[in-house]
Amino acid sequence: MMIVCHTVDELRNKIKQVCKAGASIGLVPTMGALHEGHAALIKAAVENNDFVVVTIFVNPTQFGPTEDLDSYPRTLDADLSLAKQLGASLVFAPSAQAMYPSEEMTWVEVTGNLTKVLCGSSRPTHFRGVATIVSKLFNLVKPTRAYFGQKDAQQVQVLKRMVKDLFFDVELVIMPIIREADGLAKSSRNAYLSKEERQAALVLGRSLEKAQEQFKQGERKAKAFIDFVSGEIAKERLAKIDYVAVYQLPDLKQPSAIINGQSLLAVAVYFGQTRLIDNCILEER
Ligand code: AMP
Repeated sequence: MMIVCHTVDELRNKIKQVCKAGASIGLVPTMGALHEGHAALIKAAVENNDFVVVTIFVNPTQFGPTEDLDSYPRTLDADLSLAKQLGASLVFAPSAQAMYPSEEMTWVEVTGNLTKVLCGSSRPTHFRGVATIVSKLFNLVKPTRAYFGQKDAQQVQVLKRMVKDLFFDVELVIMPIIREADGLAKSSRNAYLSKEERQAALVLGRSLEKAQEQFKQGERKAKAFIDFVSGEIAKERLAKIDYVAVYQLPDLKQPSAIINGQSLLAVAVYFGQTRLIDNCILEER
């Protein structure tokens, strides 16, 4: 039997029992409209924890004023049946009021490069919203392990930093990007794409894969990767680039002209109104 909670009190009571029993807890935070990317996280959590909590919450504080909060896909019934089928123990689907009961509130903010570059530059309040909601969920669920996708590469680095700085006693487990058969990274926002936009969006996965191939062949100039991927995307009439960038991992500092160590090649591109992100890691194997 999978439990469904909508209030903080219900969740707290259940977590208290689970902790008392000494069970390990896996947490999978999501905004719902679950797809195979989310499913991979839930499966990994179910395999490695006694009790798995999936949260479904379209977090208002991580959306900018002109972003898609109102139109974000909401498919709770289908999400509940997928979570159940995958073996989740509990789904927490709170209201915005439950998570943010008062207008006066506490923020958790990771400062510096990590939240300034890439998505931080076009979405200046996004990561503050993410860090705040994830902190609230960590405090409520008390997870042993929490599962996040490499699809949101910058989010991963921000949360790793937050966990370290705030001494959260949780292991972050990062799962690889799950893609459609044609290479498009799975995303709840793919549902917004027209047929033509979806076709154009294939350039992201395709050009990142080629870039990785070039890295394997010995290319090391940061600019060469940026020029190549930007050039490929620019060929698509329906694409409008937000950024194509290379940063060092884990701190997202500017790389030197010749990259060494692990680097992130990340893109954000509009197809019509829909902003998609994708990335790959460039590293010696
Ligand atoms: P979201 O519902 O978009 O906030 O995503 C919830 C979690 O699922 C985040 O940790 C995402 O990084 C992860 N996720 C979303 N899409 C994918 C994907 N295609 N592959 C792997 N993880 C994903």
